[in-house]
Amino acid sequence: MLNVSHIETGSYVNGTGKRFVIWFQGCKFHCKGCGNPDTWSFETKTLYTPHELFNMITNESDLIGITFSGGEPFLQVKELVDLAKEIKDCTNLTIQSFTGFELDELVEEPQKELLQYVDTLIYGRFDSSKPQNNQKIWHNPKGKDNWEFNNTDIEIDLDINGNANLSGFPDKEFIEMVKVIQDERI
Ligand code: SF4
Repeated sequence: MLNVSHIETGSYVNGTGKRFVIWFQGCKFHCKGCGNPDTWSFETKTLYTPHELFNMITNESDLIGITFSGGEPFLQVKELVDLAKEIKDCTNLTIQSFTGFELDELVEEPQKELLQYVDTLIYGRFDSSKPQNNQKIWHNPKGKDNWEFNNTDIEIDLDINGNANLSGFPDKEFIEMVKVIQDERI
């Protein structure tokens, strides 16, 4: 089973075009300035089989692809390979993934197999004090989609109760400002 923190069924700031984004639960890297510290713990959040996630993805319309984020997707690589393979075998969707691993740390199977299915990988330990947050881009030479990673885009989704969910790369000031607006709303 894949342990998932949360899902966004249609995001526009986590890769090329409209994407189904899965934030996995559990990360060992504890990077400086990580925007998703809630995903570090290895507690069980929501469990899905790879095929359940595949069905959710294919029920969405107008998707360009899927993005794996975290938490650390490659710490659940064994089952994530099954999802990635099914996506590539049965759809034209592209796959983009974030990882805290360096590229030269992804040399074992099934990490190498998962990389085969990823079109664009944003990799390396996140460090908010460094340019581009210390993240690098790898484009799969056989990939269909060369996302030119831009870590300035921000997306705000409002639920039916008016609660804001931020996605992308908001800085601390922006997050605080949204929090103040949320706290002050009637
Ligand atoms: S790898 Fe990603 S989720 Fe994990 S601590 Fe670093 S930035 Fe956060």
